[in-house]
Amino acid sequence: MNFKITTTLLGFSFIFFLFATHTTYAQSVQIDSDDLLIRSGPGTEHEPIGSANSGDTYPYLQSDAEWLEIEFNEAAGWVHEDFVSIIEQSSESPSFDNGDMPEMMMIPIDKVTLREDATVGSNRLRELTKHQTVTILESVDGWIQVETRDETVGYIPSWLLDVDQSDAKPINDQTIVIDPGHGGEDIGATGISGRYESEYALFTSYILQRQLELLGANVALTRTDDYYHALGPRPALSNYKHADAFISIHYNSEPNYPSANGMDTFYRDKIDEELALSVHDQLIETTDANDRGASTGNYQILRLSKRPSMLLELGFLSNQTEEERIQSTPYQYLISEGVIKGLLNP
Ligand SMILES: [Zn+2]
Repeated sequence: MNFKITTTLLGFSFIFFLFATHTTYAQSVQIDSDDLLIRSGPGTEHEPIGSANSGDTYPYLQSDAEWLEIEFNEAAGWVHEDFVSIIEQSSESPSFDNGDMPEMMMIPIDKVTLREDATVGSNRLRELTKHQTVTILESVDGWIQVETRDETVGYIPSWLLDVDQSDAKPINDQTIVIDPGHGGEDIGATGISGRYESEYALFTSYILQRQLELLGANVALTRTDDYYHALGPRPALSNYKHADAFISIHYNSEPNYPSANGMDTFYRDKIDEELALSVHDQLIETTDANDRGASTGNYQILRLSKRPSMLLELGFLSNQTEEERIQSTPYQYLISEGVIKGLLNP
């Protein structure tokens, strides 16, 4: 893949994710007396089909006068309302929501000094380099106050915002298909926090999509929601779009070895090796994650792909420290940066 880096780039990213909890309510019937008969219909004239004890709960289906229908041993049963209570049961499923959206920019020139105060003579904090993403905090008299991903706050000149970005996009017209692994009932791995791989994969994919689009890429996602999507159509989308790269996003889990951590990259065969190794190396360098290596992997999603493809295992959700890192938006931007640098320099 030949990505051409031409002049400069300035982009704003308005995407920012927060963890939120979606709560759905379902009603249950809790039995309040022992040896309560469960009947086949709404009335004492109906046959008993079993009994239940105080504290047992069953899904509530409907009511008929003073009788409540419950799901009882995979059948429908009826109980009198005097002997039970209806409880609201909440089942919580975590998900990512768009939350506050900080304004971000990418550094459009090779190097710029981040200064402690909004004056030319003030202390140099560090050099920022091209395509580094920073959050804009405020603008003051020819300067903008920004925060880097490692939470260093300083000032850069505001003219950087005006740098012409026409023809400046290094991934112009490239087509990248991102595949957020799993989805819906296929949750993938479960993290220590109880959150699912399918959600993390979507979180990462959204940020990567946004960053790639800032750089001029045409990006398609194989899923944009939390529903189950079969494996076959995912690489088919990439084949159909004649993608320059097909990137399947996953997270790992090894509950028996909670200390396991780091990133793996898999690719189909020799043809994709160079690009996959480039992305892998840049991911490791940018995120400082443990390097578990890059190798060929016999995954269906890679076998079905006819385009340059890779499957990224971006960290272990079974490792508490690593999962916490994966949950942080700044770290997610580092992952995106690593992937993009790898795509730029195969
Ligand atoms: Zn997976």
